[in-house]
Amino acid sequence: MIRITPYGAAGEVTGSAYMLESDAATVLVDFGMFQGDKDDDARNVVPGGVHRATVNAVLLTHGHLDHSGRLPVLIRDGYRGPIYCTHGTRDIAEIILNDAAHIQEYDYERKHRRAQRTGRRLGRYDAPLFDQQDVDQTLSQIVIVEYGVMVPVATGVHAVFHDAGHLLGSASVEVRIQDADRERIVVFSGDVGPQHLPYLRDPAPPVKADVIVLESTYGDRDHRTLEETLNEFQQIIVDAVEQKGKIFIPSFAIGRAQQMMFHIAEMVRSKRIPAIPIFLDSPMAIKADAVYRKHTELFDTESSQLVEGGQLWHDLRSVRVCVTADESKAINDEQGPFIVIAGSGMCTAGRIMHHIRNSISDPTSHFVIVGYQARGSLGRKLVDGAPGVKLMGEYHNVRAKIHTLGGFSAHAGQTELLDWFGTVAQSGVSTLLLTHGEDRARNPLRDKIQERFGVSAFLPAYSEHCEV
Ligand SMILES: [Zn+2]
Repeated sequence: MIRITPYGAAGEVTGSAYMLESDAATVLVDFGMFQGDKDDDARNVVPGGVHRATVNAVLLTHGHLDHSGRLPVLIRDGYRGPIYCTHGTRDIAEIILNDAAHIQEYDYERKHRRAQRTGRRLGRYDAPLFDQQDVDQTLSQIVIVEYGVMVPVATGVHAVFHDAGHLLGSASVEVRIQDADRERIVVFSGDVGPQHLPYLRDPAPPVKADVIVLESTYGDRDHRTLEETLNEFQQIIVDAVEQKGKIFIPSFAIGRAQQMMFHIAEMVRSKRIPAIPIFLDSPMAIKADAVYRKHTELFDTESSQLVEGGQLWHDLRSVRVCVTADESKAINDEQGPFIVIAGSGMCTAGRIMHHIRNSISDPTSHFVIVGYQARGSLGRKLVDGAPGVKLMGEYHNVRAKIHTLGGFSAHAGQTELLDWFGTVAQSGVSTLLLTHGEDRARNPLRDKIQERFGVSAFLPAYSEHCEV
């Protein structure tokens, strides 16, 4: 008997965590954080159904916090077994988990000071979920695996990591389980990337599975084409250069920031735009950049060639990194045209906030929104055309131009998900679970898969078991 139980990302996109049980072993695939909802702290725990003493191994598909963020909680709970992932994932997870620990410790200190002032008692969920020590311990339990190499991970369980093309080091994981007298293959897609993401190789999934657990983030639609998006992006830069304007790109620090710089480099190389200064104004993006430069062995052919000849770094010669807060503030005194890439991606915190305050009322400035903006975020307000925004108690009229570019996703669209499924399921598949998507995305994907492949999908809820 094989049993799969999701403890997150079931009907939603965050909190990825699956427990895979056979008669002989228990393995977790991802153990990510729930994000985006104020009540999420209460969910960011080790669920009652997961017992650290019985977990034999963890397989981590990639470093994003919604896939890795509860690992330090599991470690704090006492888990001391191995965490298998690729080298790229280990290095990305290190940046992301260190940052998460830092934010939580900082938030806690702030709450603690406020509580002392007001005489309020701190509640259970005010305490940090984990600290730096837990993260260090988590990283020490990582066992690095190579793509395409089968490794034994628990009694009767082997795993192979395949390129998922979503983030540096990202993988789909093929788990081979000895069940009674036969072997069964369960494939976890992880997050599947689109074709042709800069730097990364395209997804290369396994070609055989009995059970598939497939993400469905964009199961309901295809993205705008990258070509259209890049043309729009180029026009914005050309206009800004003409007006000597400033361009601000709120961006997630890891993955998206590198993707944006890659596209800018392409435009500089083909002389479609001049090499104007680019301020990489995000300590986390600078660290992520170093990880990308360290792992050029993971690059696709195009990026490898650009890197080997030194062309890419030449195209990016106008990049200036801003490590300290003073370096960031000094950008205020610069004359346009220039580009600033700063976090946070949804304008909810970070250095982008002071750029918004300084430039949102300047009609020659451009804010280019390149990522998903959650409801309630400042970024979403800008996208929705708010006439003014309130920042740190001050009201600012929005006079800068706001551009929303929709084609930069690191997730496969519907057609690419169907292709991915078609590859893995080519020799027949007995069970399909659709996860990591809201129902409005996974319902249409379920229908398409039924229509095209005649396979019916199971849409599990949180902690709902699926027995195979
Ligand atoms: Zn991801």
